[in-house]
Amino acid sequence: METVILGTGNSQEMRIAIDQAVDQLERGSIVGLPTETVYGLAADALNADACATIFEAKERPSFDPLIVHVSGEKMLNNVAEIPDEIADVTYDLIKEFWPGALTFILPKKDIVPDIVTSGLQTVAVRRSKNKIFSEIVNSLESPIAAPSANRFGSISPTSAAAVFTELSGKIPLIIDGGACSEGVESTIIKIEPSQKKKPLIKILRPGPITPEMLKKFGKIDKHQHSSEESSSLTSPGQLDSHYAPNTPLKILNSPEEFDCDPSKKYALLSYRGQKKDGYLELCDWTHVETLSPGSGKLPEAAVRFFFSLRKLDELGVDEIISEPIPERGIGFAIMDRLKRASYQFS
Ligand code: AMP
Ligand code: MG
Repeated sequence: METVILGTGNSQEMRIAIDQAVDQLERGSIVGLPTETVYGLAADALNADACATIFEAKERPSFDPLIVHVSGEKMLNNVAEIPDEIADVTYDLIKEFWPGALTFILPKKDIVPDIVTSGLQTVAVRRSKNKIFSEIVNSLESPIAAPSANRFGSISPTSAAAVFTELSGKIPLIIDGGACSEGVESTIIKIEPSQKKKPLIKILRPGPITPEMLKKFGKIDKHQHSSEESSSLTSPGQLDSHYAPNTPLKILNSPEEFDCDPSKKYALLSYRGQKKDGYLELCDWTHVETLSPGSGKLPEAAVRFFFSLRKLDELGVDEIISEPIPERGIGFAIMDRLKRASYQFS
């Protein structure tokens, strides 16, 4: 199958791209689409056969459920139930963060095919703020299932070119909406009612909506469940190894941990590229990729993270070494991805 990339550089191109994407989705096909987090591989969420094609193209195991993207509260109510005990806090969070990178786990309605939720009685729902994606879900008038547009377990795509590298030949169309503005996947939460004043907000996957941003709405539980615990169906897709490059990747928690083998080629993923952090002169790096040069800004590091990891993976070095990222704000989500990306090499 030939994979076409359509640009959206001017309003005419944009119109054509949106119309073609909607047309493909209506016909039960799958399409690579930009969102503010990472590029998604989209299908009509109410079309079970189309959703099956997502699993096939990504080689994604059927136990890993998909996120359903809606156009607003009406569509949300078509796919999910909002239990009375958590309705107030859910609507408060929607008001504050939608459209945006916050995904809710809620009881599902029968209209959602089982394949989308991997047989769970809950569904993950969010509303994207990307203009192109929003127009497509509005025009389709049906929710869109869209996991990240990469082969299962590999680095998430934050550009149309990265989607092409991952899935060309397997999907008919990619819409190029430029680089993603957030750069890491949405925050996934599950709200539990509590006898106390504040409900419990469990962060199943950290993301752009940070614990600091959520804490005024409830008591935050940011404990990341291991895959063994999560087989108890809290967040089955949060596997220990994920987002992995082909090149071995190691996080060095301090520069002293590095034992340089002179016969090997190394590349460094640096947070801010500063000598005083102690990593730059550890070795004769083949390449140093800096996430946020200068004083270090976490949102900038998030935007560049997957792009940089992909670039380092393409260098052909023996090992990628990464500095740790400060675990505050969105840094918590970046470190979550980095740990999973390095897990299989540790
Ligand atoms: P993505 O690959 O970005 O679409 O993210 C999908 C992830 O959302 C899955 O890997 C799960 O971790 C999580 N998820 C989706 N649906 C559910 C659900 N019903 N319950 C818990 N976690 C879910
Ligand atoms: Mg993914």
